[in-house]
Amino acid sequence: MFSGFKNSCRRIHIFAADFKKQAFMAGDITLTMIKPDAVKKNFIGPILKMINEAGFRIVAMKYTKLSKEKAGEFYAVHRERPFYGELVDFMSSGPIVAAILEKENAVDDFRKLIGATDPSKAEEGTIRKLYAASIGENAVHGSDSDENAVIEGDFHFSKLERF
Ligand code: ADP
Repeated sequence: MFSGFKNSCRRIHIFAADFKKQAFMAGDITLTMIKPDAVKKNFIGPILKMINEAGFRIVAMKYTKLSKEKAGEFYAVHRERPFYGELVDFMSSGPIVAAILEKENAVDDFRKLIGATDPSKAEEGTIRKLYAASIGENAVHGSDSDENAVIEGDFHFSKLERF
């Protein structure tokens, strides 16, 4: 009976260690969304291929659609910007693919892979250069800091949806 208790304690300990690992792996994860414009143009496959080939591991992924309310919440930091309404309408206009990606230096490396916000200023070979049409409808989202990567990951995914 005592060994059963010890085993339970060990399991709780392992669970707590995993939980801590998941919660504090800042620097290794970023959150991406393949935005409604890229989904509509059938670019999910080519974009995921670029993500794979750049060495990111998919930790969590879902095909989903944001309500206006959820899109507004996700982009709340931009509430005061003139394009906020347009951004919320666009991001809730159709399905998206949301994913947590893992890699060393994930946030910076993914920002390099997607390129500048405005595709006309993005470097050759970046996702936005290849697949985005305009500064508003720019194909993909990538977290801008380790802290926001964790917040945005939690926005889209529960612990049970991560592998
Ligand atoms: P990024 O997505 O590159 O981090 P921002 O955080 O500045 O860029 O903006 C968030 C999103 O808001 C952009 O990806 C884009 O969809 C939209 N956006 C940014 N600037 C503009 C703009 N001047 N006009 C319309 N939409 C914009």
